[in-house]
Amino acid sequence: GNDLGSNTVHKENFDIVRVDLDDGRDYPIYIGTGYSEEQATEILQSHIKGNKVLIVTNDRIAPMYLEKYANLLKAGDKLSVETLVVPDGEEHKNMEIMQTILDKCLETSLDRKATLVALGGGVIGDMVGFAAAIYQRGVNFVQVPTTVMAMVDSSVGGKTGVNHPGGKNMIGAFHQPQCVFVDTETLSTLPDRELQSGISEIVKYGLIRDKEFFEWQEDHMERMMARDPEALRFAITRSCQNKAAVVKADEKEAGLRATLNLGHTFGHAIENHSGYGTWLHGEAVAIGTAMAATMSARMGWIEPQLVQRIYKLLERAKLPVELPPDSPMDRDSFLKLMSVDKKVENGNLRLILLKGALGNCVFTGDFDEQALLDTIDEFVA
Ligand code: NAD
Ligand code: MG
Repeated sequence: GNDLGSNTVHKENFDIVRVDLDDGRDYPIYIGTGYSEEQATEILQSHIKGNKVLIVTNDRIAPMYLEKYANLLKAGDKLSVETLVVPDGEEHKNMEIMQTILDKCLETSLDRKATLVALGGGVIGDMVGFAAAIYQRGVNFVQVPTTVMAMVDSSVGGKTGVNHPGGKNMIGAFHQPQCVFVDTETLSTLPDRELQSGISEIVKYGLIRDKEFFEWQEDHMERMMARDPEALRFAITRSCQNKAAVVKADEKEAGLRATLNLGHTFGHAIENHSGYGTWLHGEAVAIGTAMAATMSARMGWIEPQLVQRIYKLLERAKLPVELPPDSPMDRDSFLKLMSVDKKVENGNLRLILLKGALGNCVFTGDFDEQALLDTIDEFVA
């Protein structure tokens, strides 16, 4: 019922999802497994207009994948390919590393036709996308996401940026890539916790707008967890179709796009309270999703039985659905941290909550405040 698939082409070993935007900014997401070198080179090079490329990655990913991608881009000797390796970690998603990237652009005399390539997870994608947005007022970039989180969420939709000491993702720009190139084989080296964290966002798409996809996940969670290539390809393609549809309808987040943040307002409070490194984003979102579902059921907006299904699916993905017993969070700290979330407008907290049958949600400030307080009390207890 979501008109998914109309923008998708299925080839033998990869899918192409088009992100349909105005002003000629359409771009494809390639999601595949077992690309031949020729295939990968042809796809990647076809999205590079100038003759200079700078690949940016981090010191964890570089030993595994940098040479491979540099060689794919160098094949045929049409492109001059430079590389830059920055330190791994969310704590380095900041203006200092941005400066390093911009320095490298200038040192290597990148011109306005140059293309930046982001090779890595969401941290690299967000930072390199932002560098591409501001270097010489905007150059092209290509996303090569290597985490589930980046493949299903951060590489699609054009939100780029860095953190500020005063808040996560506070500095940034909208800048769409020329293409997104997903090779699910890169996921073979991803740590289990990172895989699970990304699956949390996959669960989200089912809950907010795609009942069939949620049901597919109920049938295939163990296959995804085992990194079955076909299951991952399907889940990533379907997630990208959903994200592309939402971004097409509401690129700059006037409303609908906010629904992609199901569980995130609660999740951000949990992440912010504990600082970097305690919870992975998707783990905090999983607890947040459990809270949003619990609160929705408290108000009678969804059946308690649906809450049980959500908990069960998240637990099969080895994701947390509650705060640990020794969590130092209390009601007041929770509320305070929730209201610094960007979804506060004019001082009013707005939440993404589930309402009606599976696959439906609302983004609203019109909820029973007592249900929110009771839900927080239940989780911090
Ligand atoms: P990440 O980029 O930090 O990657 C997680 C870890 O996995 C890192 O240590 C990374 O080096 C490592 N890694 C990456 N690929 C690997 C591979 N194939 N094999 C082994 N290790 C690998 O984290 P993430 O979860 O990918 O992304 C989180 C970031 O994305 C956050 O900064 C978040 O704000 C951002 N984000 C942005 C959007 C958006 O719309 N722009 C959406 C969601 C998340
Ligand atoms: Mg998220």
